[in-house]
Amino acid sequence: MATALKFTRPESQAASFVSRTHKMLINGKWTDAASGKTFPTYNPATGEVLSNIAEGDREDIDRAVRAARAAFETGPWSRMTASERGRLVWKLADLLEEHLEEFAELESLDNGKPLTVARAADVPLAVELFRYMAGWSTKLEGNTIPLSVPYTPGAKYLAYTLREPVGVVGQIIPWNFPLLMAAWKLGPALATGNTIVLKPAEQTPLSALRLGELIQEAGIPDGVVNIVPGYGETAGAALSAHPDVDKVAFTGSTEVGKLILQAAAGNLKKVSLELGGKSPNVVFADVDLDAAIAGAASAIFFNHGQCCCAGSRLYVEEQIFDRVVEGVSERAKKINVGPGLDPATDMGPLVSADQLNRVCGYLEAGFSEGAKATAGGERFGDKGYFVKPTVLVNTNEKMKVVQEEIFGPVVTAIPFRDADMLVGQANDSAYGLAAGIWTRDIKKAHRLASQLRAGTVWINCYNIFDAALPFGGYKQSGWGREMGHEVLEQYTEVKAVCAAL
Ligand code: ADP
Repeated sequence: MATALKFTRPESQAASFVSRTHKMLINGKWTDAASGKTFPTYNPATGEVLSNIAEGDREDIDRAVRAARAAFETGPWSRMTASERGRLVWKLADLLEEHLEEFAELESLDNGKPLTVARAADVPLAVELFRYMAGWSTKLEGNTIPLSVPYTPGAKYLAYTLREPVGVVGQIIPWNFPLLMAAWKLGPALATGNTIVLKPAEQTPLSALRLGELIQEAGIPDGVVNIVPGYGETAGAALSAHPDVDKVAFTGSTEVGKLILQAAAGNLKKVSLELGGKSPNVVFADVDLDAAIAGAASAIFFNHGQCCCAGSRLYVEEQIFDRVVEGVSERAKKINVGPGLDPATDMGPLVSADQLNRVCGYLEAGFSEGAKATAGGERFGDKGYFVKPTVLVNTNEKMKVVQEEIFGPVVTAIPFRDADMLVGQANDSAYGLAAGIWTRDIKKAHRLASQLRAGTVWINCYNIFDAALPFGGYKQSGWGREMGHEVLEQYTEVKAVCAAL
């Protein structure tokens, strides 16, 4: 039974979508699971069931992969010009933009994030991603290469490279930005001519399923995008192990990334991984204090800290440590925690009961090791999965809360004295996804940016994303890059052609 929901408009399209039964998209048809099973998706603000969804498993994945293979080899997609492909992706962007409000509501309901945030960030970023990638479809060029082959003296050759799609791509995405992560994956895969089996996260399948309808409306041919919702250990594992999948692209935890890599070894499919983080955010004493305090707070509290790049380790030069901690704590206390659809909400619930338990477990571990909270430190309310925005002090590099990814609104603040030692501290992590630097000294900023082992460094800003800006991790934060032209490498093979003249 779906629960009574307060939508921004009672007649909203999101309301009517949520109230429907949800099937999976295979070969252009909305179908039940082969097993007939369904699984629930919950409203994280209440813990109540929102909708029931067809539960994909091995057999459904297999059907979807067969559809994607046929679409890749023989369907109309394989014969389209680059321009035709690009126009379809652009059309999808336009349709998504037309349904901005509906998607923002779906995202807020299923994930818990504030509607205002989904409306301003998640949906527009997804629209822009599709537009940016649509433009690339006509610009996938190879090179001509002069040859100087030593053992065929005098011979002449024409040598060139072609960029071709990898083939059938499995895409497994997380729940923190459900629509945007679908866009990050689908956009480049479509622009480069691949076919796809997408598995949304079991916590947040709704926006990907609605996107499936727009994919059909845009005229993207049947079988090019197949969407199979289901659990990670079943549908996700089957997709990453499938022998006829040429590549798997994953965004999620480092732990699951390693499982995907093992599963992919069977047929040596290509793998790209965008994984966890424990990103340092460094504030120097010469900074514009108000801007740095606001930036440090939003670096961790944006999306409830459920960002792989969250600025979760806040390093502050010791002269201003107390003032920054006080400022960030004050901001944390003023954050209005509530249901995502409430216009007054700044921060919604965490996505699930598991996530609530995980974050609360970290808080307990931190306190038992001697950390102290200057803001938050506990669950908020007794219904739904809310946690108070939390600032921890008295922490050190050995603590679990400093080493491990919490994936919640919890920042550990640590003073530093010496900029050189700071580099070691900031890089002392298995992860290397992102970092922040706050200073007025541009030389210091760029020097530190070059020393930090992270895929993204923000200077006097944080969480700035753009479809043109590559994103991904050093170390255990991943393999390959999302977005920018770098992502096109992940979805194309290079063919070298050499002709004797
Ligand atoms: P989190 O722990 O934050 O939920 P995960 O990394 O577990 O993040 O989940 C990200 C995505 O990976 C989800 O779509 C999930 O279903 C999927 N997943 C989880 N376990 C596996 C697995 N063993 N194989 C493939 N996919 C998985």
